[in-house]
Amino acid sequence: MYKKFIPFATANSAYEIDFDFLKSIGAKTVFLDIDNTLDSYKALEPTDKAREFVNKVKSEFNVVLISNNRKEKVTHYASKLGVPFIYKAFKPMPKKVNAFIKENSLNKDAIILIGDQMMTDVWCGHNVGIKVIMTNKLVKEDQWTTHINRIFERIIKKYHVKHKNLRDWREIYGKMSKSA
Ligand SMILES: [Mg+2]
Repeated sequence: MYKKFIPFATANSAYEIDFDFLKSIGAKTVFLDIDNTLDSYKALEPTDKAREFVNKVKSEFNVVLISNNRKEKVTHYASKLGVPFIYKAFKPMPKKVNAFIKENSLNKDAIILIGDQMMTDVWCGHNVGIKVIMTNKLVKEDQWTTHINRIFERIIKKYHVKHKNLRDWREIYGKMSKSA
């Protein structure tokens, strides 16, 4: 039930994920959600924390920002980081993400999407066929368009927690290093 809402792994925050874990699962490209993953939706420009983080990720992986937010916001935000981006991605719909993957000849097995929402990021990952790490929200407040998604998310998340379907990235990483 609700399988399409189960992420590959969960994390408290994008900022805590060990790059060696990403490499161990074969990631070469990191798709990053912006709002409530890297920064509050209110941040029009990347905070120093986000900038520093994205620069670090950039030094080891291809980074692409994938946001449902509007063109002006995403274009400006991404230009400050010097990374490619998709605005109005219409997650969970796979069309724009798939088009980007095709245009750039990316291997889906080598992509990890990191985002904070089950109804957009995780579902999109399933629709596209790429792994997703779902983070907690970075800050409490969401854009109003997200409120309805959070209601469904709360219900589905509760179900998956109860059935132990959500696994923290450390748990997966630990098991992998033991079997290696
Ligand atoms: Mg988000």
